[in-house]
Amino acid sequence: MDLGISGRKAIVCAASKGLGRACAEHLAAAGVELVINARSEDVLKETARQIEADHGVKVTPVAADITTKAGRGAVLAACPAPDILVNNAGGPPPGNFRDWDESDWIAAVKSNMLTPIELIKATVDQMIDQRFGRIINITSAAVRAPIPILGLSNGARAGLTGFVAGISRETIRHNVTINNLLPGPFETDRLAAMMEAGAAKAGTSVKEEHDMRASANPAGRFGQPSEFGATCAFLASVHAGFMTGQNILLDGGAYPGTM
Ligand code: NAP
Repeated sequence: MDLGISGRKAIVCAASKGLGRACAEHLAAAGVELVINARSEDVLKETARQIEADHGVKVTPVAADITTKAGRGAVLAACPAPDILVNNAGGPPPGNFRDWDESDWIAAVKSNMLTPIELIKATVDQMIDQRFGRIINITSAAVRAPIPILGLSNGARAGLTGFVAGISRETIRHNVTINNLLPGPFETDRLAAMMEAGAAKAGTSVKEEHDMRASANPAGRFGQPSEFGATCAFLASVHAGFMTGQNILLDGGAYPGTM
C-alpha cells in the first residue's frame, strides 16, 4: 500500500534501538525524511547511517536527552516543522511504590508525560496550519492493564493518555491526528533486560524465562519490533486521517477484555 507520505518530514524520538527505531525504519521505507534521536551518539549515528543506506532518505541524528528542555530544543532545531511526530523515551524503572519519593515520580512524569506534551505543543499548531499532521505516542499496554511493579509507568502514561484524549478531538478537523500505540511484550533490549531480571528472581535461565513468558502469550511468542513499526507507519499515513484519540494495543491478544 502506498502510504501517501513520501517526502514528508518526521521526528522520531528515542529511535536508535527497539520500537522507536522500528518506527523510523518503516517511515523511511515510506519515503519520509527523518530526524532521529537518542542519547548515545555512536549508536544513533550508526542507526541513521543504516536507515539512510537501506531506504535512500535523509536521516539526521540528534544525540540528546529528549526529557530535557535542551534536548527537545536540539531536536526541534533540526526539524522545526515536522509533518509526523513519534514521541518515545525510556520507560521508568520497576519497583515498589513504597520506595519511590517525589523525585522518582517527577522523573517518570517528565519522561513519559510532560516530554511528549511539550513536543506536541511545539509542533501541533504548524501541523494545523498546513492541514496535515500525525502524532503517535509510544505508551504501554500497562495503560490498559496496569502492571503493579511498573507503578511509575502506569501513573505517568495514564496522564498523557488523558491529555491526548482531550486534544485529539480538537485537531482532527484540521487533518491532524493524535494516537497512542500501546506495546505489549516486544523483542527489544528493554524486554531482554526484563527477562534477565525475571530469570534471576525465579532462579531459572534467561532462555527458560523467555520461552515460558513467550508461550504464555496467546500468540505463543513476543512481538517483533517490525510489526510495531509497520503499525506506526500506517497511523502516520494519509489513510489514517479519520482515526484519532485511540489507544491501539499490540500485545498478541494478552489483554483478555472484549474491547
Ligand atoms: P529499548 O530497546 O531499550 O530502546 C530505547 C531507545 O530509547 C534507545 O534508542 C535509547 O537510546 C532511547 N532513549 C531512552 N531514553 C532516552 C532519552 N531520555 N532521550 C532520548 N532517547 C532515549 O526500549 P523499547 O523496548 O524500544 O521501549 C521503548 C518504549 O516502549 C519505552 O518507554 C518502554 O517502556 C515502552 N515499552 C516497551 C515494551 C517492550 O516490550 N519492548 C513494552 C511496553 C512498553 P539511548 O539509551 O542511547 O538514549
